[in-house]
Amino acid sequence: MYINGERYVPHGAKMISVINPATGEVVETVPSASPADVGKAVSSCADAFLVWSQKSYAERSMILSRVSAMLAENRQFEKLAALLTTEQGKPLHESRREIEGVIAVINHFTGLSSSLNTDFFENKSNNSYSFTLKKPLGVCASILPWNMPALILSWKIIPALLTGNTCLVKPSSICPLTVLELAAVFSAGGLPPGVFNAVTGPGEEIGEQLAQSKDIKRISFTGSAEAGRKMYEAAAKTAKKITLELGGSDAMIVCDDADIEDCSAKAVAAKFFNCGQACVSPKRIFVFESVYDSFVTAALKHVSQIRLGNGLSGTATMGPLSCEESRKKIIGFVEAAQKEGAEILCGGKIPAGVAGVAGVEGAEFEKGCFFEPTVIVNVPKESRLLKEEVFGPVMVILPVKDLDEAIAKANNSDFGLGASVWTNDIRRAKKAAEELEAGVVWVNQHAKVLPELPFGGVKDSGLGRENGYEVLNDYLETKAVVFKF
Ligand code: NAD
Repeated sequence: MYINGERYVPHGAKMISVINPATGEVVETVPSASPADVGKAVSSCADAFLVWSQKSYAERSMILSRVSAMLAENRQFEKLAALLTTEQGKPLHESRREIEGVIAVINHFTGLSSSLNTDFFENKSNNSYSFTLKKPLGVCASILPWNMPALILSWKIIPALLTGNTCLVKPSSICPLTVLELAAVFSAGGLPPGVFNAVTGPGEEIGEQLAQSKDIKRISFTGSAEAGRKMYEAAAKTAKKITLELGGSDAMIVCDDADIEDCSAKAVAAKFFNCGQACVSPKRIFVFESVYDSFVTAALKHVSQIRLGNGLSGTATMGPLSCEESRKKIIGFVEAAQKEGAEILCGGKIPAGVAGVAGVEGAEFEKGCFFEPTVIVNVPKESRLLKEEVFGPVMVILPVKDLDEAIAKANNSDFGLGASVWTNDIRRAKKAAEELEAGVVWVNQHAKVLPELPFGGVKDSGLGRENGYEVLNDYLETKAVVFKF
């Protein structure tokens, strides 16, 4: 835990082991917070709010900019990237990109601080003035998943901190270490004690306690749709503001005029990035029948070039799944697909060992949570692969007749996070952008998330948006004032 500007391990606390998914080794242990520990962290955030909310935007922005500079400093940057790979499994270059993403988010929001406006009205009829004040809410809670713990932390806490709120963060027990290390960097950068606290432990219990606490004014949750719905119900009891960033089953539509070589390479990169554990990875790839065979052939060629291994090796381009539970789920999806008659074109199993991959040959694979990059076709329309979120290295390719059929099939999902269309025809791009039911639509790319653009889903993929500009208002309460002398 991280409370009041320092690491905190309560005496006699039950400890949780954080496992390196590439080796099965325990990296470190963190305490499982009791209700009293959570209460202590909330009180500390509430006390710190009295100080932090009184600072000007310029002062808060200066401290956050200092943190950004510290994160970019080579030693700190590399330390965080290595820690992220060690606890989460992603290759080092992906961890570096994630820390760069955190820096970009800080720079984006600190750049906006001087453009936060209030409204002013002159009421001539009764000779009065009215205006709005934008007040920070208080203590804001952030509940994080394990797949991109650093980046998603920044989406939540940077707008909250900039607008004068204090933050209580609950990282996933699978990946809490990078978040705790980041809390220490923020403190070293000048964030006062208690402005950013982190508690580790079981999601359901801590989520329920935060939902019931009168001191918590807002909850931003990122995770599975199932846990998000529970969080929503719990938060309703005290009518809290809430953002839910949930799962996705992103569609990617490849039209017959797309550059097949280019888009198959980018589909493979987007799909197998983070071992397929990204909310916006393309989970259902719809390809026009006339280019279906050439797309599948090109995709298989690119998949064969993936080098599976320990993310720290420097040579691996795909790491293990985050934990054994995730791997069991993926094995369940693949076995179900096989029973349903789907065809596995490559992968579909735990690797036996690959000669020439540094550090992870043979037995090394057995200790980690590795799973081969997998491509599946001929998937029946009622398959679980199409109905549920498959959070792992499984690429599903489906033929479609035309754009109408592709959009109809893409929209036939409970999820609506991202979607993409690949075409050189602007009319097709426009139609897809308008008709796809998703919070974000990309044209000729996929999974590109920018701090300046609002991000979030529709349908079961969530509620509310993160990033962009408007999110700052989500962390502020608007008070109307009428003035007459
Ligand atoms: P998860 O739902 O298992 O856990 C997420 C967090 O919620 C963890 O910190 C967990 O401890 C906590 N939690 C679990 N049950 C809870 C409850 N009942 N109340 C409150 N908190 C609870 O999700 P995960 O496996 O860590 O992450 C993967 C999921 O996150 C995927 O579905 C993925 O698509 C989604 N995700 C969404 C986005 C997005 O921006 N939309 C981004 C990344 C990940």
